[in-house]
Amino acid sequence: MDTFTETGPLPTAALKDGFLSDQFGRVFNYLRIAVNEQCNLRCVYCMPPGGVDFQPKKELLTTREINRIVRVASTIGITKIRFTGGEPLLHPQIASIVRAAVGTPGIEEVHLTTNGLLLPEKAEALKLAGLHGINISLDTLDDSRFRTITRKTGLLRVLEGMESALELGFPSVKINMVAMRGFNDDEITNFVELTKQHPVTVRFIELMPFDSHQIWKTGKFYQAEHLIADLTTLYPELTPVDGSSTEHHVFRLPGYPGKIAVIPAYSRNLCSGCTRVRLTADGYIRNCLYSHREYNLRQVLRNGGDDREIANLFKTAMWHKLEDGWEAQRRGEEHRESMTQIGG
Ligand code: SAM
Ligand code: SF4
Repeated sequence: MDTFTETGPLPTAALKDGFLSDQFGRVFNYLRIAVNEQCNLRCVYCMPPGGVDFQPKKELLTTREINRIVRVASTIGITKIRFTGGEPLLHPQIASIVRAAVGTPGIEEVHLTTNGLLLPEKAEALKLAGLHGINISLDTLDDSRFRTITRKTGLLRVLEGMESALELGFPSVKINMVAMRGFNDDEITNFVELTKQHPVTVRFIELMPFDSHQIWKTGKFYQAEHLIADLTTLYPELTPVDGSSTEHHVFRLPGYPGKIAVIPAYSRNLCSGCTRVRLTADGYIRNCLYSHREYNLRQVLRNGGDDREIANLFKTAMWHKLEDGWEAQRRGEEHRESMTQIGG
């Protein structure tokens, strides 16, 4: 794999205002951290039935390392953190990691993406820790399909987890649905109706080729543009509204408390407004989901690097971000087998 640890001098522009920026004028304030690789599901578009080659614990960032990274990131303009994985709720210290991030000066929002299975028992601790938002990944409302897609059971627990999150009053609860042709595309209206019953944002997400190409090649891709066209046909009264800074195609139906969003995760037509930095569970910075060039932050930490060196590796990584995800993909072969190693 291409990895880099260089922390040498950067062009003055890269240090502009002490923020993370790149050569295309983008400024990055949103850090997504994978806290583990292990998962209690085996979603067909994410990993094979036996899982992937999960790395030993010593190769993954420790809680102390994650807390330190959040603190340093907050000094270079990161204001929003998302914890992901693997399945972050399997991490024994997830509530304490969230609490530390919430208490870090400069961090304004802390979110988490989960498959929801463990939410019924963990939601309260996360609320007490100060978590602002939960994204729950759920691709079907049908029990037998849930078993096909995740290769496990648990739909009712995920729905219970969503109810717990809503009852506890998290400021943001979203449902991530990877929309796939001939798989769950007939459930679009059922998911839209969730926004009538609950103040949730349902996000329809394009399938991406991050699964060692098992599902990607089987014609299931449902393009965002087509999703928007189909939604507009099904619901002519759909009205565009503002979403969060990372959402662009957001809609609402009159009288429905929730919102509907479409995320062109594969089409990549929103790269010019990207604000994201990613950190893999084994401590590599990825400046783009589609980039194969990674920056080894774990090595900097474990070689005794100081805060300035950590900040400089972030600055270097982001300064070298390519213009868009297409260009990043053109530059080389993906070496990671699954999204569970990158965090989504
Ligand atoms: N386990 C947690 C979960 O499922 O929410 C967090 C990690 S998971 C890798 C993060 C997100 O990536 C999930 O919403 C999942 O649906 C999405 N994802 C995984 N593989 C994908 C793929 N090939 N295409 C599109 N989304 C994918
Ligand atoms: Fe696990 Fe999330 Fe991958 Fe599904 S998408 S297998 S829940 S990491």
